Amino acid sequence: MSDIRDEVAAGFTEIYGSAPLGIWSAPGRANLIGEHTDYNEGFVLPFAINRRTVVALGAREDGVIRVASAFADEVAEIAIAELSPERLRDWSAYPLGVAWALGQHGADLGAVPGVDLYIESTVPVGAGLSSSAAIESAVAVALNEVWQLGLDRQTLARVGQLAENKAVGAPTGIMDQSASLLGRHDHAVFLDCRSLESSLVELGFAAAGLELLVIDTGVSHDHATGGYAARRASCELGARLMGVGSLRDLSVDDLPRAREVLDDETFRRVRHVITENQRVLDTVAALRTEGPLAIGELLDASHVSMRDDFEISVPELDLAVETAQANGAIGARMTGGGFGGAAIALVPSEGVSRIQVAIDGAFAEHGFSQPTTFTVTASDGAGRD
Ligand code: ADP
Ligand code: MG
Repeated sequence: MSDIRDEVAAGFTEIYGSAPLGIWSAPGRANLIGEHTDYNEGFVLPFAINRRTVVALGAREDGVIRVASAFADEVAEIAIAELSPERLRDWSAYPLGVAWALGQHGADLGAVPGVDLYIESTVPVGAGLSSSAAIESAVAVALNEVWQLGLDRQTLARVGQLAENKAVGAPTGIMDQSASLLGRHDHAVFLDCRSLESSLVELGFAAAGLELLVIDTGVSHDHATGGYAARRASCELGARLMGVGSLRDLSVDDLPRAREVLDDETFRRVRHVITENQRVLDTVAALRTEGPLAIGELLDASHVSMRDDFEISVPELDLAVETAQANGAIGARMTGGGFGGAAIALVPSEGVSRIQVAIDGAFAEHGFSQPTTFTVTASDGAGRD
């Protein structure tokens, strides 16, 4: 981390002409299990990863907020008093949307001082590892501290979600921000997306001789359009037709009735969410009683459910998962919202390079672009560096 912190400080000074006041960072996340359950008020089990988005912040005398990123050429600038979702666009809608959303959660935006922000990141963008939550959470903790807002981490997670929903226009749930804000070294965040109660669950991968491999297919996704919104709509329809407020209110016992009430496609969407909620609960129980070697089948079953029932996988993700499984992975599944992005595989340490070679070979054989594979470890959540 120390090199990127130095880089960010130097980058800030180059752009704004003085040293930053401080540096904050927030991690991306991998979701161990629990996909498309968050906006159905269900359960998720993500963990913060050792790839972070780092924000350098400097104070200003006036009420202007400026934001720059190594990711983009231009510096975006707006008067804090004029922040509104309609005025924000492109990548700067993420950090500036957070500033606006803090106002929606009680910050007096008429009274806070201006700030300059500069952002760098080691979280791959659009890979399903939530570079979006990383940038939101890093900016949220920085502004929360500098503007002395005293908001707790659950509230900051809602702030990030509000920014993404309203300023960016992506109808995503609360999981990613929660993982980025609440994560802890060697632990996953078990989150009830209805109550927002969370607890940490020890992963113990290293102690069990395991590594968590991420296979970034390079197939890009876009949450603001298309399939993601369509899946949300299917879930809402399913809940309505089943007479419940959200799919969280259904369990595997309701599946026979769902089969009768719903059309085939809606039924399969609903079955994914119901069974995925159960798999999250089973994974937490398995980690707590038996340890990580016991969760492989649950990861595998989650992938099948996303591929066949929720239909959010792509051939590259299926190939990554199948190749990992065939070459000694304990379990594997696509992770994130789907339609591209990354898969994860839980792999014996000594098998990592063999699986990487096998996946590269399989992708070449199928004429797919080479994926990027790397291991991640469960890391601490957002904070001041
Ligand atoms: P994911 O969260 O899976 O990486 P998203 O599409 O949700 O993908 O979010 C990616 C978007 O977030 C980028 O296209 C960009 O607009 C914004 N973003 C993420 N990281 C940064 C960064 N370091 N600097 C500027 N914008 C960023
Ligand atoms: Mg995202």
